[in-house]
Amino acid sequence: MTTTTHVPGFDMLEDRSLLRTAAYVDGTWVTAGESGVISVDNPATGQEICELPALSRAQVTLAIEAAHRAHPAWRALSGKERAQVLRRWFELITEHGEDLARLIVVEEGKPLAEARGEVAYAASFVEWFAEEAKRIRGEIFDAPRASGRVVVLKEPVGVCVAITPWNFPAAMITRKAAPALAAGCTMVVKPAEQTPLTALALADLAERAGVPAGVLSVVTGHASEIGPELTGNPLVRKISFTGSTEVGRLLLEQSAATVKKASMELGGNAPIIVFDDADVENAVAGVMTAKYRNSGESCIGGNRVYVQSGIHDEFAAALAERTAALRVGEGFDEGVQIGPLIDAAAAAKVAEHVADAAANGARVLTGGATHARGGRFFEPTVLVDVTQGMLVTREETFGPVLPLLEFRDEAEVVAWANDTEYGLAAYLFTKDAERIWRVAAALETGMVGINTGLISNEVAPFGGIKQSGLGREGSVHGIEEYLEMKYLAWEGSGAASRPA
Ligand code: ADP
Repeated sequence: MTTTTHVPGFDMLEDRSLLRTAAYVDGTWVTAGESGVISVDNPATGQEICELPALSRAQVTLAIEAAHRAHPAWRALSGKERAQVLRRWFELITEHGEDLARLIVVEEGKPLAEARGEVAYAASFVEWFAEEAKRIRGEIFDAPRASGRVVVLKEPVGVCVAITPWNFPAAMITRKAAPALAAGCTMVVKPAEQTPLTALALADLAERAGVPAGVLSVVTGHASEIGPELTGNPLVRKISFTGSTEVGRLLLEQSAATVKKASMELGGNAPIIVFDDADVENAVAGVMTAKYRNSGESCIGGNRVYVQSGIHDEFAAALAERTAALRVGEGFDEGVQIGPLIDAAAAAKVAEHVADAAANGARVLTGGATHARGGRFFEPTVLVDVTQGMLVTREETFGPVLPLLEFRDEAEVVAWANDTEYGLAAYLFTKDAERIWRVAAALETGMVGINTGLISNEVAPFGGIKQSGLGREGSVHGIEEYLEMKYLAWEGSGAASRPA
């Protein structure tokens, strides 16, 4: 196992023990992978920062079996007792927030200010579900016959698996692990190969918080090898995935054989609709946020911007001016707003989308090429004269590119917005309250931002419809994904029954 030296970020960790280069299975740090190693690199430089063990399928089986063994004792605690452990985890994440943010910058590349924001967002799920652990409620009501009652218990699903993406290395884990643990489930997390260090630091903090061995494990390895174990092992009762629609479909297929419950947060193709009557200044700011957060690498990021004819040219000019002023650089550089893309393939996809648009008649108002820094840095780009058929409109670009499409009326833009297999998020900007109700109702998405580009928080139900997913995360509903109902038909409990 090698850890190369002088990686900015690692040197600056206040608590160096948070840099873990081992998987965490059943309360033990596993340094030897039976399937070799995975390599983690820094997207800003392309250089390897460390290697981690690639666990074999058999090693992952051990993690699942440990979660199964740990489950009875964990579910036997009261909600309040589990809440106390989660609360402590929240406090430790907050205390070590700066270190977590640095790890995120090193392996994911986002600007430090955004990494700090992500840590606060990640911690908010742990705090929220610590509170919700105390509020798990069943139901009791009259049966059709007066001699009985219906009693509905809420019970933890059991052993759960989380498979998480690289773009929010902390938050995508806590959004799953916190409700799972709050509900009394145990969980095996498989973080993305690109960003396991944040996941392992979170596991370290969970251990310090008193999460018992086996209740939360983090396995590292090659997805194609260990994925089938996570989806196929009959001890696993639920899989929660965030990632691409393509992989989501595969995991659903693989889980079908053992009929697992599934939560899927998949790809998006979010439309942003700006009407003539919008507050233009607010709409420009909202589009900038919805698009450029996380360098454009967000599943709810605005992917295509529809601007009504009356303000189109003025709006495009304002966006181009703001976009050209964005600072591109390494996440640790002062004032940076756009970091590198995660890997070479991501940068190539963005370039391909821009080239396709240009070849089909779009004009580049600003940007349009690999950034002067080279590597995985791409210039923030505004395109106009974009049409429905182009790749930038049809596919998730996942980069700092804003394609603008001009529209004439509401019916036309709603049809265009819905013309996709995806249904995660949409945004609209208008001052007309009637239009807000009408358009929000007509949009086929799980979430709609209205006069804002910022929709994610722990109290709201996050999730998509159509091929963007199944289930919701966060909010009072998030914990239900980790609970089963058990119905008791209790004869003799009703108002009309007499004591024997
Ligand atoms: P992205 O396109 O954002 O990288 P992916 O859907 O490829 O998203 O990856 C999201 C997560 O799914 C990652 O943790 C990745 O390792 C995992 N993954 C990818 N392919 C598989 C697979 N065949 N089986 C299990 N997990 C997988």
